[in-house]
Amino acid sequence: MSLAAAIDVKGWCPGVLRPMQSGDGLLARVRPWCGALRLDEAKGLADASERFGNGHIDLTRRANLQIRGLGDASVRGLQDAVARLGLLDRDAEAEAGRNIMVSPLVGIDPAEADIRPIAHALADLLARDRMLRRLPSKFGFLVDGGGHVSIAGERADISLKALGRTMAVGLDTPTGADWVGTTSVDEAAEVAAAIARIFIGLAREQGRLRDLGEGPFGRLRAIVRKGLGPVGNLSVESWRLIGVKGLAVGIAAPFGRLDAHQLRSLAGLAGEAGAVDIRLSPWRVLYVGARDVEAAQTLMKGAHEIGLIVDANDPILRIDACPGAPACRSSSVDTRRTARRLAASPFKGSVHVSGCAKGCARSAPADLVLVGIQGGEQGRYGVIRNGTARDLPQRLIDASEAGAQFDV
Ligand code: SF4
Repeated sequence: MSLAAAIDVKGWCPGVLRPMQSGDGLLARVRPWCGALRLDEAKGLADASERFGNGHIDLTRRANLQIRGLGDASVRGLQDAVARLGLLDRDAEAEAGRNIMVSPLVGIDPAEADIRPIAHALADLLARDRMLRRLPSKFGFLVDGGGHVSIAGERADISLKALGRTMAVGLDTPTGADWVGTTSVDEAAEVAAAIARIFIGLAREQGRLRDLGEGPFGRLRAIVRKGLGPVGNLSVESWRLIGVKGLAVGIAAPFGRLDAHQLRSLAGLAGEAGAVDIRLSPWRVLYVGARDVEAAQTLMKGAHEIGLIVDANDPILRIDACPGAPACRSSSVDTRRTARRLAASPFKGSVHVSGCAKGCARSAPADLVLVGIQGGEQGRYGVIRNGTARDLPQRLIDASEAGAQFDV
């Protein structure tokens, strides 16, 4: 498929082999292996984003990176650079299907089971099994090692979570994961792949597992449960960290965006702290394992100095903001400029500033939502309280009004 034709395909998540058009050029999503970037990979991506794109790098809610601002002529150069780093899949379908999130402190947190072999085996099955290529492109998996920083409460079609010497198996439903049983560590990847194959047989449309409907979901659940051990009442939630805990350092980027200089510098700081890689998380916080407490503190200070967030109380963290204008063509408002003004305002609740009603940056309700208006009211925001970007705005304001007037 030609690049132009590939870019026109709708319903695909962007990849390096199949970039997506955006307001600031093409964007390419890079999927690290097992949620970790070796330091040379991180530096190589920073260099490539500057050389072939506009140097802006987004962290995604699927624990990937997006390189922005590519031109038609520069995509090939990026692809070659990513291939040299060993981060390129064999083809666009394999790349689109490798949606696996891994708990970020595996191998760093001693309380965490090393579930990386499961994630590798699952990635291998997804790449080799032709039937699994038919999964919808947003269909995803998570593998959690049961440590202190957990992704088990995040949304994935099929979840695997370490539970003692077994792996609990979760199926996504409209109300969250249904933990249906346990399997052995050795069989976990194959069990997840088998569930995905059953889903393909039952799904009539390109929906997700949670869209199956009661009848097909009940059939899938009954088949899956037959092969699993008991799980009991498993209660899970995600557990996040920003700052230092033990030897792990959690580092956020304002609104999930780094520039090439920051990523390169962070890789340098991580190396000085004794780390071999940088981990990614679905809440867009990067994690680094330091050699000792002193190195962790030095790393945290260095990250702060290059404009990254290491304080869990930083007001920017209360605000989700999509790229907005000019990066996204669907928006007429500069969402991140507005978000920074709101961070400096007296408003203390959760905030979502969205360039349009699609609400890419946040699906959960927020205390205050500002959503860019399209059509005749370009450059204005709709105001929604206690809702999502898809709700009906209660009133309209100019972008210049956002900030001072929200004081609760
Ligand atoms: S919410 Fe709208 S403006 Fe923001 S990134 Fe998504 S499509 Fe673009």
